[in-house]
Amino acid sequence: MDQVLENMKNIIRGGGNIVVLAGMNITYDIGLNGVTAEHIAYDIEQKYGYSNDEIASSLFYTRRAELFYRYYKEVILNIDDPQPSSIHYGIYKLQQCSKLSAVVTRSVYSLYKKAGCSNVIQLHGSVDENICPRCKRLYDSGYIKHSKGIPVCEKCGIPLRPGFSLLGEMLDNGKISRASNAVENASILLVIGAEINSPLCRYMVKYYKGDKLILLNDKERIGDECANYRAYGNIRDMFAQVMDF
Ligand SMILES: [Zn+2]
Repeated sequence: MDQVLENMKNIIRGGGNIVVLAGMNITYDIGLNGVTAEHIAYDIEQKYGYSNDEIASSLFYTRRAELFYRYYKEVILNIDDPQPSSIHYGIYKLQQCSKLSAVVTRSVYSLYKKAGCSNVIQLHGSVDENICPRCKRLYDSGYIKHSKGIPVCEKCGIPLRPGFSLLGEMLDNGKISRASNAVENASILLVIGAEINSPLCRYMVKYYKGDKLILLNDKERIGDECANYRAYGNIRDMFAQVMDF
């Protein structure tokens, strides 16, 4: 086994109070696109006539709700009832070993919760928390996916608000401070499937005071040097090796 992965394994096996920053590569790995679908930006523009950033914006939602919801159903909810991968279950294993303090992610899918994780901070909200602006009832992703045209509240008959933040909207301050507090108090900061300069890590990593910043990602990128331990390759395989205790 690779010595770096062996070192990571020993740190995790011997430590606790871990905060996981769970990146978008975990989401892409199971074939989900996320909200802005950066990895298929060209295809989106060809198909919808607008860029992914335009469609996923609050202005676009307000003006072109029908097209926005078509994109929501086809691109964001591209997989019916997605299931957690071995990475999600590996993070849950950390919780079972009483090592996990929190999972912080920009992913809008409920897969960490589905795997059993309890303290999950979804900074950008969730596809399973679409809300009626009037009665505040929540609707899950299945309701959106199977609705015709613009999904409406069954009771009020008015269009639902998507459960995640759109570009141009403020993020939830409460969630950001919960996440930054968790990172500040963490003994081990475990970054999986994101580069240090990603929108998720750039902001969060600066709160970490320890010397056990572990990074697992597909390939090396500028800015990753600040991680204390890092490995690149297939994130499922690497994480399985690190969690093999
Ligand atoms: Zn309602």
